[in-house]
Amino acid sequence: MHGFRYFGNRLHCEGVALEPLARKYGTPLYVYSQGTLTDHFKKLDMAMSDVDHQICFSVKANSNQSVLRALANLGGGFDIVSGGELQRIIDAGGDPRNCVFAGVGKTEPEVEFALKRGVYSFNAESEPELERINRVAARLGKTAPVAVRVNPGVAAHTHAKITTGTYENKFGIAFEKIEAVYARAATLKHLRLRGLQMHIGSQITTVSPFEEAVRKILPLALRLKRQYGLEFLSLGGGLGIVYNPALESGAAGWWKSVASRNILTPQKYAARLVSLLQPLDLRILLEPGRFISGNAGVLLTRVEYVKRTGRKHFLIVDAAMNDLIRPAFYEAYHQIVPLIRKAGVRIKSDVVGPVCESGDFFCKDRPLPRLGEGDYLALLSAGAYGFVMASNYNTRPLAAEVLVNGNRAALVRQRQPVRNIWAGETVAPWLK
Ligand SMILES: *Cc1c(COP(=O)(O)O)cnc(C)c1O
Repeated sequence: MHGFRYFGNRLHCEGVALEPLARKYGTPLYVYSQGTLTDHFKKLDMAMSDVDHQICFSVKANSNQSVLRALANLGGGFDIVSGGELQRIIDAGGDPRNCVFAGVGKTEPEVEFALKRGVYSFNAESEPELERINRVAARLGKTAPVAVRVNPGVAAHTHAKITTGTYENKFGIAFEKIEAVYARAATLKHLRLRGLQMHIGSQITTVSPFEEAVRKILPLALRLKRQYGLEFLSLGGGLGIVYNPALESGAAGWWKSVASRNILTPQKYAARLVSLLQPLDLRILLEPGRFISGNAGVLLTRVEYVKRTGRKHFLIVDAAMNDLIRPAFYEAYHQIVPLIRKAGVRIKSDVVGPVCESGDFFCKDRPLPRLGEGDYLALLSAGAYGFVMASNYNTRPLAAEVLVNGNRAALVRQRQPVRNIWAGETVAPWLK
């Protein structure tokens, strides 16, 4: 299931029509479907039920307090990459003991904070980091649970900016060097070697790269388990989603259509991996971000102007690259549909924002219905790496966010008041 579809001509999120929401709360507006978040979490959870496992949602994909609480209520843990994300989890009612702390640049204060709060594991990415974690743990009289991120050296066949499993990037430790790193870590008195971690990239749409990586690290995981008593293996995240088309109108339903289109599903993922993982007898951690929240969110925007030039038809909308940077940053595709469905001709349109950058566009030459000022559009599949990557560029306030559950909708983040943007700034004394 995914919670966005037309009833009659009106696009809904679950039981809530989106145009009245856009009018009530203004645009740009992110809207999330709790039903979709829940469904994706449970689908993956159920698919993996034949191994001891824990899903740790990757907080960097969507960190709204309501999204985090909804997932915590389902028994989800969290994959965090900063002290700030850990604080968010605590404030959202999540349990640090279900958190793994990833990232290449953990600072001392972050390590200390996470140690005091008792995270399940630090997923370390270098030897100096292991030494730092050991040092901080010694100072606090604690033992730090750690895993080391192995870089399996497989190609994930995804966009260059989201490939992490090859040797040309900053992540993890090369497969050939990892055992030496564990041997060294085992000499550090304040570390407990708890697991092994990998994450090969994002938006991976076939099981093969995962399978290749798992097959490659299986013997390694077994050896490390025997030697150091490891307790878990984390496979990271990276499960891809459907961006095009994100919206299916047919009666077949979302998952059926996804399955028939040869896209990665939790069932396919589990079918190829679970039997490989079972003999390990390790706890399996998964760190999906996009898979859980990507299709669970949309960005609503209003057409401000229609501008025709000699060759082009522009829809200038009130959302911009500062609200959703994926098209500019990753050349990402987002399906764009009107909140009120329109029949008739399609016009090749560029949907662009008001920011003063030529990179500020959401699509180019895409056939869209004839639209005018005041019409609303939805950019689909904006629930992961959407709001979280927003900025204040052009002094544009951060968008508001709404969570829908069935027939209910709640504002879960107010639109940022504009003065809030420069509230921390001051005029230097010599300028006064
Ligand atoms: C970003 C990230 C994830 C989540 O990636 P998705 O593609 O959103 O599933 C998981 N683990 C680590 C270590 C990451 O950096």
